Amino acid sequence: MTLQTPTYALHQGTVPLLISIPHMGTALPAECTGGMSATAPLMQDTDWHLEQLYGFAATMGASVLQAKVSRYVIDLNRPPSGESLYPGQTTTGLCPTETFRGQPLYGEAQAPDPSQQADRLERYWWPYHHTLRAELDRLKALHGAVVLWEAHSIASELPRLFEGKLPDLNFGTADGKSCAPAIIDSVVAHAMDSRFSYVVNGRFKGGYITRQYGAPADNVHAIQLEMGQDLYMLEEPPFTYLEHKATSVQPLLQKMLLQALTSLARHTPL
Ligand SMILES: [Zn+2]
Repeated sequence: MTLQTPTYALHQGTVPLLISIPHMGTALPAECTGGMSATAPLMQDTDWHLEQLYGFAATMGASVLQAKVSRYVIDLNRPPSGESLYPGQTTTGLCPTETFRGQPLYGEAQAPDPSQQADRLERYWWPYHHTLRAELDRLKALHGAVVLWEAHSIASELPRLFEGKLPDLNFGTADGKSCAPAIIDSVVAHAMDSRFSYVVNGRFKGGYITRQYGAPADNVHAIQLEMGQDLYMLEEPPFTYLEHKATSVQPLLQKMLLQALTSLARHTPL
């Protein structure tokens, strides 16, 4: 079953795996564009085309939750309080005022004030999170345990955020707190066997969603995968999806997701 709302789409699957894609949205609702700069509509920090890259997941029986609203309106992977995910490091906030490259998203004194931010939380942030929680609960009730796969992608070089080129695959489990070691280790073993570079809990350790919902003791295992966008698309406008590159990483993604399900079944007490 697929549920469509103005803020997200949810495909409900049959296996204990939910793929959440909070940064793929490209909608800039009219009530949010007042005061935005000419940079905002380029939406260059979008996690482009992940719905296409993970297109095989629905046929595996996975549930897929896809955001529709741009992260420039409100970032679904930041805490509602607006606290920094990476204190002391450069990062973007709940209602970002600049791009990853430091370009302003609003004109002078045009950034959303606290009441506008509260309105965005209500309209766009909470609906995604209520649905995510409900779908995790549904799958857990059916299967006893569930894997939450946070699907992300980012430009592979962003000097303002990290030095040099990012590894191809950046796994985050909140420094081991969001997923049982046996599950993440078995997933990473496939990356180790591949030609792609990878790191676990490096620069990206999992954002708010991974940290908030990952609860191994409560049988919810959350893994964030931040991928370099050069693996499957043009990193510069027009951000074209590159089929020939995508098809070389998709088999690995599929193997890792299947592995997560196999390890979850082994790990979960009957
Ligand atoms: Zn992302």
